[in-house]
Amino acid sequence: RADMAMYHAKQLGRNNFQFYSDALQHQATRRVELERDLRAALTNEEFELHFQPQVRLHDDAVIGVEALVRWRHPERGLLSPARFIPLAEETGLIVPLGEWILRAACRQARTWRDAGLPPLRVAVNISARQFNDDQLPALIENLLREHELPADLLELELTETMLMTDVKTASITLNRLKALGIALALDDFGTGYSSLAQLKRFPLDMIKIDRSFVANITIDQNDDTIVQAIIKMAHNLGMTALAEGVETTEQEDALRTHGCDMVQGYLISKPLPATELEAWLSARHVVT
Ligand code: C2E
Ligand code: MG
Ligand code: MG
Ligand code: MG
Repeated sequence: RADMAMYHAKQLGRNNFQFYSDALQHQATRRVELERDLRAALTNEEFELHFQPQVRLHDDAVIGVEALVRWRHPERGLLSPARFIPLAEETGLIVPLGEWILRAACRQARTWRDAGLPPLRVAVNISARQFNDDQLPALIENLLREHELPADLLELELTETMLMTDVKTASITLNRLKALGIALALDDFGTGYSSLAQLKRFPLDMIKIDRSFVANITIDQNDDTIVQAIIKMAHNLGMTALAEGVETTEQEDALRTHGCDMVQGYLISKPLPATELEAWLSARHVVT
């Protein structure tokens, strides 16, 4: 019996190994395919931007929208950034993709401005590789000029890790970007490691409180305390506080009570393609 059990265990082990090995092989193949497709997607213009509104709490005004990239893959359908941004980062493809995203965002901001909409600032997520590329400020400057776009209609979203890895260089880049007149936001705040002493030296306009804190604000006293502290800190540093991932009116009410300036999340709207966003704005009487 013991022998039999041993035999089964061995078989099982072998099968498991075979299983994992197949799975790894499969994963590797998909990765290669994905990388090949990613390159082609850039030339075939398979990417698109969706836009999620950002609303000011005290008067419900739509201040801006966050541009979020999607990939309309010919076979796999609409892919979320989690599926391809990491690979784009690893392969360096994020640099041309990031430039496409910035250009598409500027073009859209310009189109809305020409359509006579109330000023709508467009926020663009920047990856670490883009941020570390010392051509970034020049690229932004050119894009603003190319689209004759007022700089304050563009916002860049950066993360703590990007700024804290090399504080000195990050500070120089931030100041070069800020000198262009664009807005700078710190995304997913609270998930990384920030030195508060450094934070106050950076020319940031906005802190975006990560969704993980907002999610539990009405059920976990600790998260509620953290959110209150972040809002206070932002204000003390002269920055705007925006809460990400707001899904319920209870969360919104709590944030309003805590003096949070802005909210973004499914409660207000999910990210929408440009034309759907325009319809959403009309329904809200932002556009007449
Ligand atoms: P992020 O910048 O923190 O963007 C917010 C993410 O939360 C978006 O996911 C958005 O759809 C989602 N979200 C918004 N409201 C809610 C809500 O109420 N509940 C929940 N559960 N989720 C909500 P998405 O579009 O899948 O993007 C994920 C991440 O991918 C982004 O996080 C950002 O880090 C990255 N990303 C997106 N677009 C770009 C881009 O154009 N360039 C770069 N470099 N990264 C991007
Ligand atoms: Mg973001
Ligand atoms: Mg975020
Ligand atoms: Mg995020």
